[in-house]
Amino acid sequence: MTRIDRIAKKINRVYPHIVVSEKDGCVRLTGEMDRWDDVLSAGKMAVSGHFFGVLNDIKLAGFTQPPIKRPVLDDDRYDGAVCDVLVIGGGVIGCSIARELTRYNIKVILVEKQSDVATMQSARNDGAIHVGIDLPNKTKKLHYLARSNCMYEQLSAQLDFPFTRHGQYVLSTSWWHLPIMLALKVKAMRQKITNLQFMGRRKLAGVVPNLSKNVKFGILMDKGGCVCPYGMTIAYADNAVQNGAKILLNTIVTGMDVTDGVIIGVHTNRGIIKPRVVVNAAGVYADVIAEYAQDRFYTIHPRRGTNLILDRQSKSHIINDAGSISMYLSRKLRQRVHSKGGGILQTVDDNVLVGPDSVETPYREDHSTTIESINAVMSKHALTSPTMSNRDIINYFTGVRSATYEEDFVIEYGKKTTNIVHVAGIQSPGLSAAPAIAIDVSKMAVVILTKYRIVLANNKFNPVRKGVTNISKLSIQERDELIRINPNYGEIVCRCEGISKGEILDALHLPLCVPTLDGIKRRVRAGMGRCQGAFCQPLIMDIIKEDRGLPYDRISKKGEDRVILSVNKE
Ligand SMILES: Cc1cc2nc3c(=O)[nH]c(=O)nc-3n(C[C@H](O)[C@H](O)[C@H](O)COP(=O)(O)OP(=O)(O)OC[C@H]3O[C@@H](n4cnc5c(N)ncnc54)[C@H](O)[C@@H]3O)c2cc1C
Repeated sequence: MTRIDRIAKKINRVYPHIVVSEKDGCVRLTGEMDRWDDVLSAGKMAVSGHFFGVLNDIKLAGFTQPPIKRPVLDDDRYDGAVCDVLVIGGGVIGCSIARELTRYNIKVILVEKQSDVATMQSARNDGAIHVGIDLPNKTKKLHYLARSNCMYEQLSAQLDFPFTRHGQYVLSTSWWHLPIMLALKVKAMRQKITNLQFMGRRKLAGVVPNLSKNVKFGILMDKGGCVCPYGMTIAYADNAVQNGAKILLNTIVTGMDVTDGVIIGVHTNRGIIKPRVVVNAAGVYADVIAEYAQDRFYTIHPRRGTNLILDRQSKSHIINDAGSISMYLSRKLRQRVHSKGGGILQTVDDNVLVGPDSVETPYREDHSTTIESINAVMSKHALTSPTMSNRDIINYFTGVRSATYEEDFVIEYGKKTTNIVHVAGIQSPGLSAAPAIAIDVSKMAVVILTKYRIVLANNKFNPVRKGVTNISKLSIQERDELIRINPNYGEIVCRCEGISKGEILDALHLPLCVPTLDGIKRRVRAGMGRCQGAFCQPLIMDIIKEDRGLPYDRISKKGEDRVILSVNKE
């Protein structure tokens, strides 16, 4: 019996009507099913180390995937543009790779279909810099996380994004977890995850205020940290642009011309770009891009996660005001899921973030938040933080993880197409692992490029990027001095967050300029406070109008299709 026959036998025992075959070194599943859970379960059963990956082409009866959300622009502005490396996707992975590529003297273009970088997973996550205690040995997840975790101090200083290393706890509410928790500690030490501290309830209660009576013991992992995920991505993007990369927003890849296993043209809504090498960092659409490149060997199955943002005042409820409380051990044991199960996290902006949950879905871009998810997140974390209440919630958001059936990162050269590098399946801890992934992928792209041309180092590469100065973090004297030099820093525009006109202008003058209300909000937090922009939005529109010379009816919340005012021309 061949390997594929063995997999078929296993799957057909449960799902007799599913056809299992071998295609280009992958396990391919076809047929139709009535439940998404069954489609997933068959896909998981097809995983085998002897094949490149799983191509799960089983149809879900009655379901049609909504078309990819695309920009409204349609022109030929970039038609015929030539570059050495084309990066597809402006999440943390694409932007960090673009930045690392600018260390070489080559022409780099990044295309992103949205109106800003970091709007999908790379914005819709917790920002936790993980430690990896839960990750299996020999996974790419663990390898890249371990290398990246220790890079954050230097990176945040170079790229000027906030980073805190307050540590993370894994807490347990059941005594029967004790031997497993101790085994986990030993395993972590073998994986060279050091400085783990086992803590009994009494010790924990001494450092964690309002600790729930349910908590019996825990492990403190002092390598745990936190960043603002979109702030980090924007910083990478700015530094890439500073060093010569071009970032084309509102630009979607719609197809490719492939001849003899080589991509010769990449179709976009703005014309055909001609790259020598393509890096596929398209998140939940990575397998679609792989299909365009005639090089699909994995399948993305989307997995939603909802997070709740609590008011800063709710800090009094938080059981740990200096870190995050993770419960992934207890969750993993109960449900054998592949996401960590979430936690309570104090963000770098001092908000409290609770979540996420983990819900499989066939929809790739469904970012709606359901009451079921909100309730599930709150009730789960009430177990460790009983004083939290729904009244503390000031906002919520949902992200969609780009999981593969193998549940590991895909960081590989093309199997059939020779000038592509796939960076796919980058689910958690993808944010944490991005720095090392970017280093390796940029080198992989350069290896391909050297077949076409000599690649030299970029002697002008500057690793330092200056972000916007947050005046509320300055001393009174420093603030006075700044206002004396530039009175715009004395004009407060966003009262909730204390953001001045000077900071908003600085945001408009960053290397990657995104002159939309959301673009400003994500760079300086104007509109993120309790009133959620009700007071400051008209003032910010005035500043954009004045600085960029844009009429009001061209100023949008985000993309071109989200204008705020329509001016009556009569
Ligand atoms: C709820 C949640 C919580 C998480 N928490 C954490 C955490 O605490 N710590 C951690 O380390 N990781 C976390 N993660 C994982 C982390 O967010 C991801 O691993 C990381 O953001 C992946 O980045 P990416 O660049 O691969 O994907 P994305 O950010 O999704 O970027 C892909 C980009 O490609 C673009 N794109 C797609 N198709 C096309 C096309 N055809 N043309 C042009 N552009 C295209 C998309 O618009 C998108 O911007 C979490 C994820 C979720 C969903």
